[in-house]
Amino acid sequence: MQLALGSDPRTDSLRRTQMVLIERFGRIERQHAKRYDPVWTLVQGVIGARSRTEISDAATDRLLARFGSWEQVAEAPVAELTAELATQTFPEQSATRLKACLQSIMAERGEVDLRHLSNLPTIAAMLWLETLPGVARKISAGIMNTSHFARRVVVIDSHHRRIVQRMGLVPPKADTARAYDALMPIMPDEWDAPEIDQHHLLMKKLGQTLCRPSSMACAECPVRADCQTGAQEC
Ligand code: SF4
Repeated sequence: MQLALGSDPRTDSLRRTQMVLIERFGRIERQHAKRYDPVWTLVQGVIGARSRTEISDAATDRLLARFGSWEQVAEAPVAELTAELATQTFPEQSATRLKACLQSIMAERGEVDLRHLSNLPTIAAMLWLETLPGVARKISAGIMNTSHFARRVVVIDSHHRRIVQRMGLVPPKADTARAYDALMPIMPDEWDAPEIDQHHLLMKKLGQTLCRPSSMACAECPVRADCQTGAQEC
């Protein structure tokens, strides 16, 4: 990958970070082709609080197989949804939020369908999604980036946010929305939607391995040269 010259130093830092993380971990592929359906991605996100991705993927598939359509999922009793979501970390909370979210879409659109978002500017589409119960910036960004909308939007989970805070790329106490506002303007222009998703997946991997919430393996971290916290650990 060739580095562009003359850009914001934080942008160059992101470019270098991407290169060294690909060298360390390789490129990470999303496993689930159904993510291209924005409603599938929405459901997976709403039920996914503190649950592993592969478990939420499987639960999302099970819901659709069991009820036949997202409209039928919206009409199902919370108790039935809770039983179907028994593998999630918070089954009842996931069921309650999902039902409220899908019913909210039906009330506005007449069916569970997000095609109208393709006609909206990205930020307007995200703000519309964030009016739905259970949907905040991480989920709205995920829908716009990883589904067939394929917008240049960065998904930020707790791992990703912690690392960009430690690196000094966003304010130390930034919540997800503030971290998003700080990070998006410095995303390299040449990164398309899949490359921005790759950035997120690599940062998540770093957060699951070397840059953990309560421990940091800075001495062996490939990002250290671009990290404020890593520099202080010298
Ligand atoms: S150098 Fe340390 S603090 Fe910085 S990203 Fe790596 S592990 Fe985290």
